[in-house]
Amino acid sequence: MHAVSTETEVLVDQVLEYARQRILSVDTPLDKTYTQQELEQLAGRSVLEQGIGAERALAVFADVLAPACITTDHPNYLAFIPTAPTKAATAFDLVVSASAVYGGSWLEGSGAVYAENEVLSFLAAEFGLPESAGGVFVQGGTLGNLSALVAARENARAQRGNPTTRWAVVCSAEAHSSIASAARVMDVEVIPVDAGESGVLTGDAVRPVLESRGGDVFAVVATAGSTNFGIVDDLASIAALKQEHPFWLHVDGAYGLAGMLSQRARPLFAGVEEADSVIVDPHKWLFAPFDACALIYRDPEAGRRAHTQHAEYLDTLTEATEWSPSDYAVHLTRRARGLPLWFSLATHGAAAYRDAVTTSLQLAQRIAAEIESREGFRLVRKPQLSVVVYERDGWTKEHYAAWSARLLEEQRAFVTPSSHAGRPNTRFALLNPRTTFESLVGILDSMD
Ligand SMILES: *Cc1c(COP(=O)(O)O)cnc(C)c1O
Repeated sequence: MHAVSTETEVLVDQVLEYARQRILSVDTPLDKTYTQQELEQLAGRSVLEQGIGAERALAVFADVLAPACITTDHPNYLAFIPTAPTKAATAFDLVVSASAVYGGSWLEGSGAVYAENEVLSFLAAEFGLPESAGGVFVQGGTLGNLSALVAARENARAQRGNPTTRWAVVCSAEAHSSIASAARVMDVEVIPVDAGESGVLTGDAVRPVLESRGGDVFAVVATAGSTNFGIVDDLASIAALKQEHPFWLHVDGAYGLAGMLSQRARPLFAGVEEADSVIVDPHKWLFAPFDACALIYRDPEAGRRAHTQHAEYLDTLTEATEWSPSDYAVHLTRRARGLPLWFSLATHGAAAYRDAVTTSLQLAQRIAAEIESREGFRLVRKPQLSVVVYERDGWTKEHYAAWSARLLEEQRAFVTPSSHAGRPNTRFALLNPRTTFESLVGILDSMD
């Protein structure tokens, strides 16, 4: 028997105590970005031939490194897409690490994979996909989109052979940058389609592209909640085109598809049930910690055919018929990163999630109405989900930048400048249940 040394016990206690306090804290400041030089001065060097000891290393993190990381789960973190993990999910993330679970294969991680699959089935059912749908939790939406598109191209290749020119993927001009990134990795062409004034991509806009280039097109990507505006493409009219053209419909719902959990937003997503693959990021609007993207295939076999890695040392795994998550995306070794969501969903129940999503939708409508009623403010588009984009009359890019820097400097809020069609603006991305209407009003007031 190897006993654990007292020193190790103390170390584990100290680290867990730090984690405990951080998880339970309700007033962690927003914190801010430091420069490389500042950090060199404050943190110095910790990685040396001889260890500096846990106490000192933890102190470097607590006193210097952590305050140099912006608190993304702060209720006034409203930039980009925030995160707002439940305490249950965050606490359980520690258990996932502590248990050294290998999440890549059924052979090694059957219990974890079973629970992850239960969550994927729950999500698939929410989205109206058939019971046979399934997939895997990958690191993020970027990898989820890439993995889905690789499967889509393999599927097209198997059915039609290679095109005479290049494979192409069709998406909205407002689609997320990760689609272009995936296309670069895959060396395929992106055909962007103008989504017009409303930002909603429709079947009518996609049809002419399929009529002229259909033979090259292996996938159409529809966005279910654009990152910039939270706008949902007209999924039903895009899906209807599948009757005339053989394409794979991928729905990128990294941020927005979680909106379907609320009755309030559910109708916006009509047609998603026709998707061949979808993604949604639990680290965005499903209250799980970084990093997790649920990638779900209508026909998981299509994902498996595209992604299974073959190697002699893996033969016992690849010859098995059980569900191995490694087989469904561009990865092999993986953390069972769906477990924090599983634990939190099991603990709180789906109804709590529906309520939390509804809360953000309501807050977005309320603050949008406030912005519309204010002199000198203009909504750029009416919010469909929980992103509210607005302009302050007469403000240039520099005004927004200076104001944003001041808010962070004063530790009041993290709101960043953005732009649309060449005009500067700013936006509130709302998904933290702790964000209040009053604090948003205070931020608007700070623009006077
Ligand atoms: C955030 C986002 C992505 C990328 O997801 P990551 O998890 O950041 O890789 C893709 N698509 C949409 C619509 C997003 O909002």
